[in-house]
Amino acid sequence: MLKNFKGYEQFEINTKVTEFVNKEKFTLMYLQETVFFPESAGQTGDLGVIEFNNNSYKILGLAISEDKVVHKTELIKDIQVGSEVVAKIDLKHRELVSQNHSAAHLLFDTIRELFPTSLGKGYFNDENGLRIDMQLDEKVDWDLIFKLNQIVIKKTKSGAYKEEIIVDAQTAKNEYNLAIEFNEKELEGDLRIVKFKNISIQLCSGTHVRNLLEIPNFLIYDFESKGSNIYRFYARTNPKFLEQEYDKFRKNELPEVIHISEKYSSLKFKYGEDKNVEKARDAILTITKEFLLPKWDVYIKFKIITTNLRKAMNEYLIHVDAKKKDFLFNKYKNIEPTVFGDNKIFVINENNLENKDYNFICETVLKNNKNSYVEIIDQGAKMFFCKSNCSINAFERMDTHDSLVIKGGGNEKTAQGKILERSKIKN
Ligand SMILES: [Zn+2]
Repeated sequence: MLKNFKGYEQFEINTKVTEFVNKEKFTLMYLQETVFFPESAGQTGDLGVIEFNNNSYKILGLAISEDKVVHKTELIKDIQVGSEVVAKIDLKHRELVSQNHSAAHLLFDTIRELFPTSLGKGYFNDENGLRIDMQLDEKVDWDLIFKLNQIVIKKTKSGAYKEEIIVDAQTAKNEYNLAIEFNEKELEGDLRIVKFKNISIQLCSGTHVRNLLEIPNFLIYDFESKGSNIYRFYARTNPKFLEQEYDKFRKNELPEVIHISEKYSSLKFKYGEDKNVEKARDAILTITKEFLLPKWDVYIKFKIITTNLRKAMNEYLIHVDAKKKDFLFNKYKNIEPTVFGDNKIFVINENNLENKDYNFICETVLKNNKNSYVEIIDQGAKMFFCKSNCSINAFERMDTHDSLVIKGGGNEKTAQGKILERSKIKN
């Protein structure tokens, strides 16, 4: 426990300097008492000022040394041991940090309730948001995120007040049933229990809201797998930051989803429908109108659907690719050369294919024809692609093409480039 720390109840205090060191650009000092919470157990430290002699000096950093808070401030040239100062935290910053931190208690509890064997593996929170790393055997998806979010929101709405109880380690263990092992050692001395009615109980030295209703909102806006069954959950509580996440989604993910949907439309006439893609697209259409209202549940529902759409589309594209290959193989396996001679030349006109398709066509033709050169002119995509297994130099041939101006690169075996314009056909 921190010595001389009054910052749980007070946010400003008149106190005295007990020790200090002045460096070139900053001052380090101990105070008789302090309200500044230093970064601890993943919770970011306070901001604020030290007022002295009618001047205000910003806190640049806080650290813990021998259970006391070390204050790093802007340089205070005329400070002395015994100087009377006012220590004042940035209250808005403290509130935001405490809201995120208290929400983290609720999220941690909720994960532990749903998955009793899960373990905390890392934690961080500041004024913008929080992240928790949890090891759990379950696979995390957006459906689970929806459930977690729903439970945490319900807990914040309980209106439970905070109680802080200082007990010794044995009481924490025996009466409150709290785990007091930390890094395989049992904690000793006085411990601080932070309790919100029967909603949440944890050992914690951090700063918290007085009532869970002070947590204005809650959204797990993302998660990721870190390997070894560890998942990182990202959440925010401040409506302003939530709005930023909704905005990011609207600006980045929504256009991507529309693009996928359009791509599907153009493919389905040629390669057939796909039930899963159709289903995900229909779901998006029904929810799009609701999305104008920035609500956490719509956001997460949207994440579920877009994840499903991406997955379905990837599977569909694998199927399309196989069909396309079959089609191209049959189209070009027995193609006749455009020009016969010592070297056979194949000129192929195609429309709006991809690089891998050009390559596949060339490989198919060259495999069946020795001493050959193949070029593909794709006027739709304005692309040129050629490959040679004979004495014709692919790059030279492209670079000095007799009917096209092509800008690109390559070597004697293969070359590709962008078709710039049609030059006059040489006589
Ligand atoms: Zn805490």
